[in-house]
Amino acid sequence: MKDPLNDTISSVDLLDHMGSDLTVVNAARVSMDKVSLELVEGDTKLINYLAKHGHWTPFSQPQIQLRIKMPIFIARQWFKHQVGFTRNEMSRRYVSSEPELYMPTEWRGKAESVKQGSGDVLPDSYDFYDIARDASVKAIKDYNLFIRNGVCPEQARMVLPQSMYTEFVETGSLAAYARLAKLRLDPHSQKEIQWYAQAVSDIIEPLFPKAWEALSNH
Ligand SMILES: Cc1cc2nc3c(=O)[nH]c(=O)nc-3n(C[C@H](O)[C@H](O)[C@H](O)COP(=O)(O)OP(=O)(O)OC[C@H]3O[C@@H](n4cnc5c(N)ncnc54)[C@H](O)[C@@H]3O)c2cc1C
Repeated sequence: MKDPLNDTISSVDLLDHMGSDLTVVNAARVSMDKVSLELVEGDTKLINYLAKHGHWTPFSQPQIQLRIKMPIFIARQWFKHQVGFTRNEMSRRYVSSEPELYMPTEWRGKAESVKQGSGDVLPDSYDFYDIARDASVKAIKDYNLFIRNGVCPEQARMVLPQSMYTEFVETGSLAAYARLAKLRLDPHSQKEIQWYAQAVSDIIEPLFPKAWEALSNH
């Protein structure tokens, strides 16, 4: 289990996976009516060739299933990645347990370039942490008041902030995760989503070492 935001709440957990580097190889080799029983050097070369030349279908055969807990403002970005993914998410229409909120301990400054979302960590000149914590405590208090007084969870949730955690089960192909990782490990991506992409990459890499390396390089 990974804790990308390092707050003991965020998580990325591998539930299941189907396939290995050989799955990619044998999906490609079926076109020649061939099968590899164990991965040899020629198979690694084939994997690199496929990745280099954009033959993505063999990389879409292996599947990975994760359970991910992330703040809503990051999930909004994560869910933009659609092709090759299936997701089921916890619903606050049915769940009225105390919401969990993400609270960073460091606040980044605005970046000089508009293409970069944030810059260096700001000095402790202003107590952003206390201000954010007060806003969060008030939001949770208001939510609990609505629930206690009979408001349905599907409306009461409107007072909750974007920092609230959501949780979902996600199944994606190796190809889909490689595309996501490439886009979200990029320094232009938001820092928090980079940390999630790194956690996913760290989980997948040992399962498909040759294919992940080839996809990352091309
Ligand atoms: C740094 C960064 C900043 C971003 N900023 C914004 C932003 O400001 N606003 C915003 O809305 N989004 C933003 N995005 C999201 C971005 O526009 C994409 O939606 C997201 O990266 C998912 O891309 P994907 O290629 O994995 O998409 P998927 O939807 O998973 O598609 C995968 C691939 O399938 C193909 N494909 C999918 N749909 C079609 C289609 N209809 N027609 C033809 N081919 C298709 C494309 O080749 C695509 O790359 C940002 C992403 C990044 C990484």
